[in-house]
Amino acid sequence: MAATGKLAVTTLEFERKQKGWFWFRKWDLEDVSSICWFTGIHVLAACAPFVFHRGAIRLCVAFALLSAFGMTLGYHRLLCHRSFKIPKWLEYFFVYCGSHAFQRDPMFYVNTHKNHHKYTDTNRDPVTPTDGFWFCNMGWLFNNDHIATKCGESRGGEYSKVPELKAQWFYRFLHDTYFWHPTALAALLYLRGGFPYLAWAMGMRAVVIHHFAALAGYVSHKWGERPWNTPDTSTNKWWVAVLTLGEGWHNNHHAFPRSARHGLEWWQFDPTWLLIKFLRLLGLATNVKLPTEAQKGRIPHNVGST
Ligand SMILES: [Zn+2]
Ligand SMILES: [Zn+2]
Repeated sequence: MAATGKLAVTTLEFERKQKGWFWFRKWDLEDVSSICWFTGIHVLAACAPFVFHRGAIRLCVAFALLSAFGMTLGYHRLLCHRSFKIPKWLEYFFVYCGSHAFQRDPMFYVNTHKNHHKYTDTNRDPVTPTDGFWFCNMGWLFNNDHIATKCGESRGGEYSKVPELKAQWFYRFLHDTYFWHPTALAALLYLRGGFPYLAWAMGMRAVVIHHFAALAGYVSHKWGERPWNTPDTSTNKWWVAVLTLGEGWHNNHHAFPRSARHGLEWWQFDPTWLLIKFLRLLGLATNVKLPTEAQKGRIPHNVGST
């Protein structure tokens, strides 16, 4: 099976070298829906400055925080790494907010991200800067079969690494109806405040969140500090952490992927961790995982490095 997976990826690498490989291949419905939505939100974001509206901007900021925390707290630290537990209703709330960030549905995202950690920096890593800026930025969101092959699956939609999500109706429902949710939100925004609400709270919000997250994915394996000597290229960058609610402490994260806290030093700004701490204070977050001193001692640490 592993050998077959390797062969498939080698074939994939060969195909990637052919001119126009990305555009002239089989596109499934999810690939097409995803690229259409991406085009749509970029057009809306480009129109936003021309339809300035205070109410729309306030809603844009509020929705941006909800969908960004939905990604960092819900999709990433909770579903991908199980670094804490919260009640099911709250899990579904955060994940639903995250689903409006246009990083695809939880099954796709979590399956892809688990493979990123498993195969970091190899040619089986589904989201790596070595595949080029544009593919790392957004191409991976429009190419189901390519990502599936890299993840060692026979077809798009198999999601073999997330049986726990496939077993829950909520995640199956979100997967099956994924693009209807932003469609419904867009309709509601338009009905509530017309085009300015649509341009700001849908277009600008989604574009900013996507590009901050994509920038993190790219920069965090290319430039920055490496206080932990992990067997990969992951880095820490303070300004990426500011833009991504704490996800920029990526070298810390690769060193301790199960940790709910990514900014491990007191000065490493990590708003997602602050929110998890707040939920713990309320008794809503339990089983919060942090690296022990023994675990820290097992990874070579570049003393004095930030
Ligand atoms: Zn990484
Ligand atoms: Zn991760």
